[in-house]
Amino acid sequence: MSTPTPSAAPATAARPAGRGRNLELPEHLKAYKGVWVFIEHDRGHVHSVSWELLGEARKLADTLGSSVGAVILGGDDEPLEKFAAEAFTMGADKAYVMHDPVLKGYRNEPFTKGLTDLVNKHQPEILLLGATSMGRDLAGSVATTLLTGLTADCTELKIDPVSRALAATRPTFGGSLLCTIMTLAYRPQMATVRPRVMAMPPVDATRSGEITQETLGMVETQIVTKLLDFIADANSQQINLPYADVIVSGGKGLKNPDNFKLVFELARVLGGEVGATRPCVQAGWVEAERQVGQTGKTVRPKLYIAAGISGAIQHRVGMEASDVIVAINTDPNAPIFEFAHYGIVGNAMQVLPALTQAFAGHFANHRRQAA
Ligand SMILES: Cc1cc2nc3c(=O)[nH]c(=O)nc-3n(C[C@H](O)[C@H](O)[C@H](O)COP(=O)(O)OP(=O)(O)OC[C@H]3O[C@@H](n4cnc5c(N)ncnc54)[C@H](O)[C@@H]3O)c2cc1C
Repeated sequence: MSTPTPSAAPATAARPAGRGRNLELPEHLKAYKGVWVFIEHDRGHVHSVSWELLGEARKLADTLGSSVGAVILGGDDEPLEKFAAEAFTMGADKAYVMHDPVLKGYRNEPFTKGLTDLVNKHQPEILLLGATSMGRDLAGSVATTLLTGLTADCTELKIDPVSRALAATRPTFGGSLLCTIMTLAYRPQMATVRPRVMAMPPVDATRSGEITQETLGMVETQIVTKLLDFIADANSQQINLPYADVIVSGGKGLKNPDNFKLVFELARVLGGEVGATRPCVQAGWVEAERQVGQTGKTVRPKLYIAAGISGAIQHRVGMEASDVIVAINTDPNAPIFEFAHYGIVGNAMQVLPALTQAFAGHFANHRRQAA
């Protein structure tokens, strides 16, 4: 949810009259410069959403004529400098690195203190975080500690040419409208973006940057939460929808969970993942991790096959960035045909097995020729 703090004023309401509120940036906040990205990492791996955000941060900073900073917090023995070097190749100019034993494994209190201290010291104009479990948790507490505005789950980030503020766009009213929110009188301007909403930036291996080492100044006894153990969610390891290259998704047009097996079969032959619409998840046909859309996952595969899916806006926002969309639907007027690249008007229960058979035959031929 977008946080309607006094600063998160809708752009349209903000410009003409101001409605009696101070929407000017106070003098002491004018010194805030630079676009920062919080680099999320876990067990030695940086979450790809952080690189996607660095690509956006680069564009914003270029428009503003400022620099990009990567903020990396972690334990004493974690390779934060290696992550910083990678961040430079993705567009960062500077990295603010903070090692401390209490920063090993994410906990809200030390991360909130670390990030807010860094913001207060270096004063970035914009702060971006991934809308992951960690990013959502941290962004909320950092924004409330800093008393600034936060726009969550943005789908577009731009610089408003009039105010030079961050214009953060997100779906609203159940996805039927898009609103653009600007934080005009507070700094930093904060936003979160879900994985895969933004494209991965190009890697420039020749780029390097400046690392600033920082200290936290917090001890274990000051922290209420204790990290006892890490137990991986076996399911979340198996279903990696946002980063799949091929997704075959099913909707209510499949009629029953048994027919959903046809979706799994085609996905298996194509080496892809299985997605679904919300009603299929709600009916218990497939796991919640497979839901694509506004309240599910955002995906951008090379190929997205939608079978028996109407193409409602709440589903569309989660998959329209796919390179190629193929829709199978009995209704030639289904909304999905308005944005699919290829449309098959037909019964999914016949088309899906036909595609599975054709692809299986094609791959078998290919293997025979290669042998
Ligand atoms: C706040 C909110 C959030 C939401 N979030 C999401 C979300 O994240 N993801 C999501 O998917 N939805 C979401 N929804 C629900 C969304 O509005 C739609 O209701 C949903 O996407 C429709 O799912 P569907 O296409 O499977 O079903 P339907 O709309 O029922 O469409 C079924 C389609 O199958 C076709 N069909 C029927 N028989 C066949 C056949 N034999 N072969 C081929 N085609 C056939 C029909 O012509 C129809 O187009 C959300 C809704 C709200 C209000």
